[in-house]
Amino acid sequence: MSHEHEPLVGLNGLIKCKTCGNILPSVEMTISHVSSAYRARKVLENIASAGKYTIIGFHEDFPVYSKNKNGITEEITASKITIRDYRIIKRLISEGAE
Ligand SMILES: [Zn+2]
Repeated sequence: MSHEHEPLVGLNGLIKCKTCGNILPSVEMTISHVSSAYRARKVLENIASAGKYTIIGFHEDFPVYSKNKNGITEEITASKITIRDYRIIKRLISEGAE
């Protein structure tokens, strides 16, 4: 599969791709890019406080925030690509999947 899955979240706790129609156990999306680790942490903090996420751990020195909604676990964190490029990641994990 060479496309980036476009997740569609159902109320049944399943994630389906809009493009290929497959049921996805989990999906990872880049929601934005920032130019420093400091900004990445700020963006994460803002999303977490606005969306009422709780911190569950760390990934590459960045906090991992999580919340549950309709049987889907949403996680947000960041990842370093280069010294001037960090991506903000959102992960959706279906509780309906094994
Ligand atoms: Zn797909």
